[in-house]
Amino acid sequence: MRITLSTDAPKAAAVDILAIGVRRKKFDKDEELLALDKALGGVLDEWFKDEGFAAKPNQVLKVPARGRVKAKWILLVGLGTKNSDMEAARILGYQAAKASSRQKSAAIVLPEVSPATVRVATETLIGGAYRYAEYKTGTRKPKGGLARCAFLCADAKSTGLKKAIQAGTAVAESVNIARDLVNAPPNDLNPVTLAEFAKTEAEKLNLEVDVWDKKKIEAAGMNLFLAVNRGSAVEPRFIHIAYKPKKSHTKVAFVGKGLTFDAGGLCLKPGKSMVDMKCDMAGSAATLGLVLAAARLELPVEVHAIIGSTENMLGAAAYRPGDVFTSLAGKTVEIINTDAEGRLVLADCLAWTVENIKPDIMVDHATLTGACMVALGPHRAALYTHDSDLAQTYENASELADERFWRMPLDKGLRKQLDSFIADVKHTGGSYGGSITAALFLEEFVGTTNWMHLDIAGPAFNDGPAGRTPKGGTGFGVATAVRFLEYLALDTASDDGDESAATAEA
Ligand SMILES: [Zn+2]
Repeated sequence: MRITLSTDAPKAAAVDILAIGVRRKKFDKDEELLALDKALGGVLDEWFKDEGFAAKPNQVLKVPARGRVKAKWILLVGLGTKNSDMEAARILGYQAAKASSRQKSAAIVLPEVSPATVRVATETLIGGAYRYAEYKTGTRKPKGGLARCAFLCADAKSTGLKKAIQAGTAVAESVNIARDLVNAPPNDLNPVTLAEFAKTEAEKLNLEVDVWDKKKIEAAGMNLFLAVNRGSAVEPRFIHIAYKPKKSHTKVAFVGKGLTFDAGGLCLKPGKSMVDMKCDMAGSAATLGLVLAAARLELPVEVHAIIGSTENMLGAAAYRPGDVFTSLAGKTVEIINTDAEGRLVLADCLAWTVENIKPDIMVDHATLTGACMVALGPHRAALYTHDSDLAQTYENASELADERFWRMPLDKGLRKQLDSFIADVKHTGGSYGGSITAALFLEEFVGTTNWMHLDIAGPAFNDGPAGRTPKGGTGFGVATAVRFLEYLALDTASDDGDESAATAEA
């Protein structure tokens, strides 16, 4: 979608659909709406009454303009009286996209035009227009979709607004890449094809890419990662992508769980819980999406993306409960439940990252536990870290990104659940606090690195549309990570006395 700025008055915008926000149904103080109403012959009051339009948030009224203004359709979007200008912009972008699935062009009138509002409206517009139709054929394949959209504003040459559109586009397109990867069926998206895709996308942006096949992973000694792969006919892949800007004071490593299909291994899942298990690579999708976005935004922060990808299947060589493996970090691990495979893959990837990247901050994204969804519901991710400042910054970032996290405790008291009779550590605990004990297991492998674990099992995948996210893959995590990196970029800029490096978006 091509997104531009235009100084057209609403009535002069020659587009298929003109979207305009309505704060309250009595709009006598809203100049844009008054002017539009005048052009339409004073019909808005009657339309509102006839259709029961009360300007409630997300309420929409779509009416044909019948030649009274240049646009073919008018989309009136309720914003409510209490929502901030940022939230209003998100609502408008999203509803404009939803109402335009059969239209080619749109124009949006934001209640407040600023780089910040244009950025988020761009994100929800591109995100809202997302559809996954790779496997639809013939008449089942949706046609068209919005090709261009303009934000109406006073200054179409504004650099700040143009940059905001670029930033919003980079983020939303990266989110959509993550969605595509999660939605792709597991017979087509496996560790090998995931690595090929990651390499192609990273090389388009001139990023450093290193992909390891099974031999290299064996040579490195990632035995926990390899244990999970034993039951699969497809090779595992270890992927490392590095974005190294010239100017950076901080090195952040993101580690992603990339289980392209999780049958549970010998501790087989029941069919009903297995059907969506292609989504178990959502952490790797987010990790790839965020490094691509960081590079497109040219953020002055060094970003490493590390992905461990395999299937968890039950071939003859499959790993067993009771097996003991020696991790890359040297710790011996007793296997309890083969369906708790993600933490094994992550343990070796985290240990490798600590040793080889030596990041200032290390963040992992993983669809790690069902227990996390029991605790927080399906639309919120768990956030674990000892660093309260880091947690706070990440939560602030998530608000700008329109994603939801909740900080959970790394309760030392639960660590004894992981005591093993024959090895250094068991890889799962008891029935209670399963998301916490998973985090405590990961903590065994991070050394003294400043680390944060994000359990995205719930929000990474939707059974149906939820909020502004679609059914299926959501791309959860990308937008917050980008906002977080932008906060770090502000630090880099102020250290250098250069505010221009981190422009208007924050
Ligand atoms: Zn599993």
